[in-house]
Amino acid sequence: MAAADIDLAVIIPLYNEGAVIQENFRRIRQVFAEDGLACHFVLVDDGSSDATWQEISLLVKEFPEVSALRFARNFGKEAAICAGLERVEARRYLVMDSDLQHPPRCVKEMVALMEREQADIVEGVKEKRGRESLAYRLLANGFYRLMKLLTGLDLERSSDFKLLDRGVVEALRRFEESSLFFRGLVAWVGFKRVAYSFAVDGPGCRRSRFTAGKLIRLALNAILSYTSKPLYLTIISGLIFLLISVLLGIQTLYNYFSGRAVSGFTTVILLLLFTGSMIMISLGFIGVYIARIYDEVKRRPRYVVSETAGM
Ligand code: UDP
Ligand code: MG
Repeated sequence: MAAADIDLAVIIPLYNEGAVIQENFRRIRQVFAEDGLACHFVLVDDGSSDATWQEISLLVKEFPEVSALRFARNFGKEAAICAGLERVEARRYLVMDSDLQHPPRCVKEMVALMEREQADIVEGVKEKRGRESLAYRLLANGFYRLMKLLTGLDLERSSDFKLLDRGVVEALRRFEESSLFFRGLVAWVGFKRVAYSFAVDGPGCRRSRFTAGKLIRLALNAILSYTSKPLYLTIISGLIFLLISVLLGIQTLYNYFSGRAVSGFTTVILLLLFTGSMIMISLGFIGVYIARIYDEVKRRPRYVVSETAGM
């Protein structure tokens, strides 16, 4: 497949979507056909444990404009998106969820916007969140606030629903790190970008494929692979603590010389506990980063493809 052959490559990561993919894909395909969007679909099965691959294979047989990749295990949505962007050559790339929460109706406008504004990136921005559970909303809000604090990037309301020009994808392909955060990278590369706001659509009450554990891992991954600020945070809190200890030290000495010692026993215990926890936290952060470095120097592939269809 040469670059000129495909005008728009649509990358869709899939994880345990076997029950709904047939219906959802047909819906997406139909909307694109109605809107006159000629495109090639790349369905990436992120190591699903259900019948997703069988269903995708049926779609590949049925439609010539569909090709598919299957991961050997669940490597995560970020890796699935990457694989899609790496494995197909096209003039433009669209990344979207399979569950219709990224409304296919909007794509035509996004393409028009890209052409009108001569932009390289059109970012889908969530107008309002769809029906999400309270716990999810709290977690997501906390995550975005933390991200903003640590990276200075406003990732609130951002989504993976993005239209990218070939140049951007070529830049993204040059990233060699093995763990990455798609939205962070797209924000990092620069280029001319415009926002496109959309209302999250689709069956919002469906259970998310992201469990709490997965979301926490994603949040950690986003922070650790994007910034080393927590390392500085450790140093700063260490300095603040040093200042407090100096003040307390002066007070203790003063008490000692004025013959009022012993009574400060509580302080000692509290101090010990506090220092202990500070050291633990710092060591934890350093450990996590070292683990990161270890992961990166191993140069492991981001994902392993076990099967392809229609590629
Ligand atoms: N997904 C994936 N790998 C995962 C989890 C999710 O490829 O480990 C896909 C999923 O199939 C869907 C998209 O990522 O196409 C978004 O997932 P979901 O709708 O469950 O997430 P949410 O709506 O909670 O963001
Ligand atoms: Mg969803």
